[in-house]
Amino acid sequence: MIGEKVQAVRDRIAEAAARAGRDPLSVRLLAVSKTHPAGRVEEAVRAGLAAFGENYVQEALEKMDALAGNHLEWHLIGPLQSNKTRMVAERFDWVQTVDREKIARRLSDARPESRRPLQVLVQVNVSGEASKSGIAPAEAPALARAVAAMPRLRLRGLMAIPEPTEDVAVQRARFREVRELYENLKAEGLPLDTLSLGMTADMDAAIAEGSTMVRVGTAIFGARGHSHAPSRSPVPAEG
Ligand SMILES: *Cc1c(COP(=O)(O)O)cnc(C)c1O
Repeated sequence: MIGEKVQAVRDRIAEAAARAGRDPLSVRLLAVSKTHPAGRVEEAVRAGLAAFGENYVQEALEKMDALAGNHLEWHLIGPLQSNKTRMVAERFDWVQTVDREKIARRLSDARPESRRPLQVLVQVNVSGEASKSGIAPAEAPALARAVAAMPRLRLRGLMAIPEPTEDVAVQRARFREVRELYENLKAEGLPLDTLSLGMTADMDAAIAEGSTMVRVGTAIFGARGHSHAPSRSPVPAEG
């Protein structure tokens, strides 16, 4: 039942926030619905969720159409190619993966006047070589300032996807690096309110380090890949 999963995630957020001395309501839950069909998203809507993260533009557009009329908020959390910027600017509410000025400019130019400005996060690459997405931390402030000045974009903050590790101290160090960048930009006067850090495996560390938005897929919808495949006997594990 998605409803029970959502409640368990909300409890986990509340516990992590309490441990950090934070208000649980200061952490938003973004449900990551990539690979899961519209029917599952609809179940999540019935469980009270209204904001969804998608990685693939075409897949997201199909779900937006299928669920039109529900007043949902759609976040692009996957890499954005420049040939998709128009569609994204027209249809999404948020883009969390802006890491180049050229892409930001195209999004701003293509954002329809009929819609409120596109809500944007700059994606920071805190794991260096390991990931190709995101801007280097040292270059993030200049990009953030440029994005903040674009007329049809509204810069809300930063996002990062550190490389997976079970080492909580390393998780926290990576998240802390992003939070410090974020605090520095706020101290400069940028009106930011969103630090998008943490997924199913590391949301507790992210909340401890100040995340205001966790992006959670697996803990809500189950593992990707077999959740909506026809049921068949699991392949027995070897060894
Ligand atoms: C898939 C994805 C998530 C969700 O990951 P889970 O481990 O399933 O919670 C979060 N953020 C991004 C950017 C993703 O691509």
